[in-house]
Amino acid sequence: MEKLLANQVALITGASSGIGYGVAKALANAGAAVALNYHSHAESAERLASEIENAGGSAFAVQADVADPDQVANMFDASRARFGGIDIVIANAGLQKDSAFAEMTLDDWNLVLSTNLTGQFLTCQAAVKEFRRRGQTPASKALGKIICISSVHELIPWSGHVNYAASKGGIRMLMQSLAQEVAPECIRVNSIAPGAIRTPINKDAWDTQEALDKLLQLIPYGRVGDVDDIGKAAVWLASDESDYVVGTTLFVDGGMTLYPGFAGNG
Ligand code: NAD
Repeated sequence: MEKLLANQVALITGASSGIGYGVAKALANAGAAVALNYHSHAESAERLASEIENAGGSAFAVQADVADPDQVANMFDASRARFGGIDIVIANAGLQKDSAFAEMTLDDWNLVLSTNLTGQFLTCQAAVKEFRRRGQTPASKALGKIICISSVHELIPWSGHVNYAASKGGIRMLMQSLAQEVAPECIRVNSIAPGAIRTPINKDAWDTQEALDKLLQLIPYGRVGDVDDIGKAAVWLASDESDYVVGTTLFVDGGMTLYPGFAGNG
């Protein structure tokens, strides 16, 4: 049976751990050749590339800081040199630097905004240029597909995390405005907004029973998400199965955005 992403190439930022790692695996399983961007954890990205290649796929690891325009340009050049063109870009790299608002340093504000928001701006801009350069191929109905990894915090305010929530709120408007601008060229831009997914970024929220119980009160579906949940959504959103989906945020959150605090209280 033909795989959903056969003959397509995907570049995933922040693919050395967590959601990026899981999404890269899922896209490779769906037939895509994958460029695995990492910032500092080369071993982990190299290991995933070998695993994918040993299973018959195509993958390579490429270093870049997504907040640096030159490094982003080099990452796209290296991916193009390896695979000839790019069909799918997953702007995933991100981080948190949490603190109470009055104590938040300008450095921590700038680091989160430059990685999470400027990093997605640079990644999306390079993606659009690459799709235009390469042009249409028979592998997909779209000229190219971009998936921004946002968060439920593009919608839900988050005290103690003002920099992170502001970056994700920014991604919502970046994604929608870009989607509106490039849809006439058949470039599809969408977001996935994960709820609580078990990864290193939020370990404190699930690695003790007490923290887990508290977290589960926010998730109507009653479980913490896995990176597979995001990987499956990304495969669909990157494939022609979702060809008419443009400028949408797909919440993959077990119902976290349903205001669970109001349940039974109406
Ligand atoms: P993670 O910490 O496992 O992964 C983040 C990845 O981004 C890492 O591989 C890290 O090396 C990379 N990265 C950080 N700064 C970078 C930079 N400057 N250049 C290149 N790569 C960089 O955490 P995760 O949960 O997998 O997070 C991935 C994305 O998902 C983030 O954008 C995060 O905001 C988002 N997200 C996660 C959750 C969750 O519950 N885990 C929920 C909502 C949104």
